Amino acid sequence: MREKVRTRFAPSPTGMMHVGNLRTALFEYLIAKSAGGDFILRIEDTDRERYVEGALDIIYRTLDMVGLKHDEGPDLGGGYGPYVQSERKDLYRKYAEQLVSEGKAYRCFCTKERLESLHESKEENGGGYDRHCRNLSAEEVGRLLAAGTPYVIRQKMPIEGSTTFDDVVYGPITIENRELEDQILLKSDGYPTYNFANVIDDHLMKITHVVRGSEYLSSTPKYNLLYEAFGWDVPTYVHLPLIMGKNADGSVSKLSKRHGSTGFHDLIEEGYLSRAIVNYIALLGWCPKDNRELFTLEELVENFSIDGISKSPAVFDYDKLLWF
Ligand code: GLU
Ligand code: ZN
Repeated sequence: MREKVRTRFAPSPTGMMHVGNLRTALFEYLIAKSAGGDFILRIEDTDRERYVEGALDIIYRTLDMVGLKHDEGPDLGGGYGPYVQSERKDLYRKYAEQLVSEGKAYRCFCTKERLESLHESKEENGGGYDRHCRNLSAEEVGRLLAAGTPYVIRQKMPIEGSTTFDDVVYGPITIENRELEDQILLKSDGYPTYNFANVIDDHLMKITHVVRGSEYLSSTPKYNLLYEAFGWDVPTYVHLPLIMGKNADGSVSKLSKRHGSTGFHDLIEEGYLSRAIVNYIALLGWCPKDNRELFTLEELVENFSIDGISKSPAVFDYDKLLWF
């Protein structure tokens, strides 16, 4: 029997919800629903320094307005809440400790000053971490722990060879392992890093398809090495093409606020049809088989297929959206 398709939208509440976030959510939803699968909502709020007050509210409201309902989550009595990573801290620590006890990760006690000086001596070590604490003796670690020295947990990344993964849209991608420094899994404040929590949760939540913007392509090998360390199956990766913004003079450039890329909930509140927004966003990087242009959400679910996703950049044109 084929496993049930499960996707998740995993926003970080670090700013406004923009067209890229909404497109990711929509494609995750369509991939799950067109296969009769589940769509999960997970809030990735472990980066406390980048937390933006009010961002969560906008995420919930926008999803609600466009009709992207998630299928499961903690029971709030009267509905499912989203999974929230900051409420799952102990779990990530447990998995990080597991890798330490298996010799696949280690505690790094380096001070900020030491790490900064490494960045300055770029020539010798590429500006990355020099793996200094990989070689501390058990006695030394014991002594530092007893003295209450703060530490992070880092994964031992392979020094040689390469890591390859297959992306549904972009094909096989390979990265030389020497380009990857020993990545931090758990920070000194006890919170997991974004990569680590993301992998643990995708595994525990049985996510089959990871959908995200192509800006994540180059860091995907870091996720793969984590799956490998745990001996877990890697999900199917679906990276979506870049979105560019159309300028008044017809040229295109990197998408930004001045292209009208944020504030969709405002548009809807002003009476603009959420249906038109969903329709327009679905066509940013996805091409239906019959070149049809008008779809309801239900029709998108019926017609969506991953092989219609293109890798060439999509162009967001605010004026066209308003005409839709
Ligand atoms: N939390 C990430 C973000 O908001 C999600 C990346 C992913 O979907 O894996 O960009
Ligand atoms: Zn160190």
